Amino acid sequence: MSGDSIVSAEGLFADTIDGPRLLGSICASCKTPYFPRSPGCHHPDCDLSKMEDASFCPRGTIWSVSIQNYPPPPPVVCDDPFQPFAVGMVDLPEGLRVLGRIATDDPDSVGPGDAVELILAPLGKDESGSEVISWQFRPV
Ligand SMILES: [Zn+2]
Repeated sequence: MSGDSIVSAEGLFADTIDGPRLLGSICASCKTPYFPRSPGCHHPDCDLSKMEDASFCPRGTIWSVSIQNYPPPPPVVCDDPFQPFAVGMVDLPEGLRVLGRIATDDPDSVGPGDAVELILAPLGKDESGSEVISWQFRPV
């Protein structure tokens, strides 16, 4: 990442030596995963709620996808001029579903069941002109 880049939110992801990872929590008692991090476990059958930091597998499968055809309101950052983009719910092997932009020039080309991998990429520029970096899922 360059010096001009800012991240979309602190603590949601990390750029590790093995590549980008989403950061969350796993309950050590019942193994329920959470993204983003959760201070407590919300599983109805879990009494202990012993939370541990976790990072999740960077590969997943698209569960559902839709196309964003108009610019979403702030704080979402988009390219100007606006280009429609795909947004997917992605199943990760740990058993959680994560929302993210799908990194493709052809939003109609992706669909449920497609394999994707996590990347960090610019979403656009904020008001001060700095690139905003966030996670996206790229078809593989
Ligand atoms: Zn639990």
